[in-house]
Amino acid sequence: MVVRTSVRTRRFATKLLDWYDRNGRDLPWRRRGKSNAKALDPYAVLVSEFMLQQTQVSTVIPYFHEFMRRFPTVRALAAKSEQNVLRAWQGLGYYSRARNLREAAARIVTDFAGKVPGTVEQLQILPGIGRYTAGAIASLAYGARAPILDGNVSRVLCRLNLIRRDPRESGVKEMLWKLAEEILPKARVGDFNSALMDLGATVCTPRAPKCAVCPVKGFCRAEAAGAAERIPRPRAVKATPVVVRWTFCIANKSRWLIEQRPVPGRWAGLWQFVTVEGEGGRPDLRRVSERLGFQITDLKALGRVRHALSHRRYIFEVFRGRAAGGGDWGARKWVRTGELSRYPLPRVHEKIAAMLRDSPRFV
Ligand code: SF4
Repeated sequence: MVVRTSVRTRRFATKLLDWYDRNGRDLPWRRRGKSNAKALDPYAVLVSEFMLQQTQVSTVIPYFHEFMRRFPTVRALAAKSEQNVLRAWQGLGYYSRARNLREAAARIVTDFAGKVPGTVEQLQILPGIGRYTAGAIASLAYGARAPILDGNVSRVLCRLNLIRRDPRESGVKEMLWKLAEEILPKARVGDFNSALMDLGATVCTPRAPKCAVCPVKGFCRAEAAGAAERIPRPRAVKATPVVVRWTFCIANKSRWLIEQRPVPGRWAGLWQFVTVEGEGGRPDLRRVSERLGFQITDLKALGRVRHALSHRRYIFEVFRGRAAGGGDWGARKWVRTGELSRYPLPRVHEKIAAMLRDSPRFV
């Protein structure tokens, strides 16, 4: 380990923190502490860390502002319904994060008197908080001496130490956690962790790392070996399966039929137009009516919406039709076009709702 000795560790931290003081990213959750407070607002850090799981900073920022406006404190969040929180999360994806965040807020109110806990052990008791998120909250918000290891930090550590293996392998991951802990300075741990993340996001980037301007290039074995771009080893690309769904926008007396998705599962608890597995070709009206449990008529193709997740691609074939029956039942409701925005919809169904608004009047 190239920065293992205490003198080298100190020099490494000094270089990195000097760079961070001048070049660190100005992110909204890093500004929320009181003007004379060194630490950040733990609740803001909690919210941002949940949002940043699986999502890029630039996408998170507008959601973070809106979320903090709607739910400015742990108590305000804990007091809201799950549907309310899902609605605020709409479009950000990976909705289990929203449910876990609300549940974590409720647990913080009941078990920690409304104060976000400050140790990794306490934080990891809360739903949706693993080793990385706990380390980030404890170090950023409270200055706890806790390491973090996300994709950016893994890449930086692999390059600094010329680790050519896949950082996602469990043995390598454990080694990286150890390294992330060993290089922590005695003071400014939160800033140090933020600096490592920022270095990975802006300088030590996956492609074309900017070694010429890197503040820690003197410590970097990959740069010395001319191997920076080849580390870490790229992940083998797997073919992504394509899944076809049929979505039916069913109208009755100026209202559309929507249904709530089951819990647990993908998009659990969100609302959608009636959707079934596609069978290839055009849906047969009689069979579709049987599958939906009511008679539909006047079925017309409306268009196609594509939606990509990390491990699968969806094609939604969208149809609209009319139903003879009415009334709400089970997890299904009839709503006016203008009421759709009150329900949390997966992004793909938001797009389908937009298609309905843009298509010739039907209801
Ligand atoms: Fe990354 Fe290059 Fe800096 Fe090494 S010198 S840490 S490879 S940017």
